Amino acid sequence: MTATPVQLAIVGGGAAGLFAAATARHRGVECILVERKARVGTKMLMTANGRCNFTKDLSAARMLQDLGEPVASFARTAVEACPPAAIAGALRDCGLRIRRMEDGRLFPASGKAADVVHVFGDILRDGEVPLLANAPVAALRPEGGAFSLEFRGFSLLARNVLVATGGLSFPKTGSVGDGHAFARSLGLRVEPCRPGLVGYNAPPCGWPPRLAGCRFETGASAAVLVEGRECFRCGGEVEFEPRCVSGAAVYNCSRWVARHAPRSFSLCLSTPDGGLRLDDPSPRPLKEAIVTVGGVSLSEVDPATMRARKIPGLYFAGEVLDIDGPTGGYNLSLAFATAALAVDSVARSP
Ligand SMILES: Cc1cc2nc3c(=O)[nH]c(=O)nc-3n(C[C@H](O)[C@H](O)[C@H](O)COP(=O)(O)OP(=O)(O)OC[C@H]3O[C@@H](n4cnc5c(N)ncnc54)[C@H](O)[C@@H]3O)c2cc1C
Repeated sequence: MTATPVQLAIVGGGAAGLFAAATARHRGVECILVERKARVGTKMLMTANGRCNFTKDLSAARMLQDLGEPVASFARTAVEACPPAAIAGALRDCGLRIRRMEDGRLFPASGKAADVVHVFGDILRDGEVPLLANAPVAALRPEGGAFSLEFRGFSLLARNVLVATGGLSFPKTGSVGDGHAFARSLGLRVEPCRPGLVGYNAPPCGWPPRLAGCRFETGASAAVLVEGRECFRCGGEVEFEPRCVSGAAVYNCSRWVARHAPRSFSLCLSTPDGGLRLDDPSPRPLKEAIVTVGGVSLSEVDPATMRARKIPGLYFAGEVLDIDGPTGGYNLSLAFATAALAVDSVARSP
């Protein structure tokens, strides 16, 4: 497409890619944003049932504590440089009106995720950031100190590439694992992907009649028991849907299970009406998960820059990495913060 390599090609126009493009514009980094789908921000539009809980009003230290290990150690530099207040400030400065919930979660005041995506659309338009949509990158090859992004029928040269292609959940939104394939093709380790923040299948006999169809917004909790010992507990929503049990409390338990991989465990559900114990429940599939646990190995990426340790000029941000957080705005915050750090590193690189 061009004989002169662009300074930065951002692959993926989701949360991380859009924040990266906005940061690049702010930092004066010449970039092009490349998106597989016809439109950017498809997954962001469906977040929090279309309302987009884009961060939580917390200090960086508290956010890192809630993320837990190994994510906290890896994301420390990124989150400290781009804490929730900076994310909210950046969106507010671009004209987004923000609503704070009692528990600190931040949403657009309109209750519409589209307003957040529009903010990024406006930044791209005003900054004349080139956007190549409907253009899946098929392969990524090092070429003479730069990278060749291969599309069907043409290619693009870039001095630096930021891979922001997302995880594997809700593949209809465009996150189909291409970034993992790029990483593998370049010799980088990719941790096995599994569902995080997901519901569990109902037992074959179904739910007890007193619970079937019930949704508990308050007074409920879920806990993970391993060998009879409670290892994790979370208060919050629990919903007994026909096929599965869902809700924030259950989702956060599933994240603990995905990270710790106990051989056997029980999920204990407490509601104001009583309790229920599920032994070794099976999770809903990865394509239905809110987040992917697994992805490009954290050992392959320098947490101070988001640059691949072995491959100069190659950066990763967002869910393509083996990072994930609990429900409540943590996952978008991670995508934004890692993207900002990657672009900052490109801006500082010679
Ligand atoms: C139902 C649901 C609700 C959620 N709610 C929340 C919430 O309220 N708060 C929160 O913090 N998190 C939420 N999340 C999680 C959050 O949306 C993700 O963690 C976040 O979007 C990850 O950002 P990302 O940029 O890494 O990936 P994505 O947003 O998935 O973006 C990746 C982009 O890369 C593009 N792409 C992929 N391959 C290629 C290729 N080869 N070439 C070009 N482009 C490519 C894709 O089309 C996609 O647009 C939710 C997720 C789901 C599924």
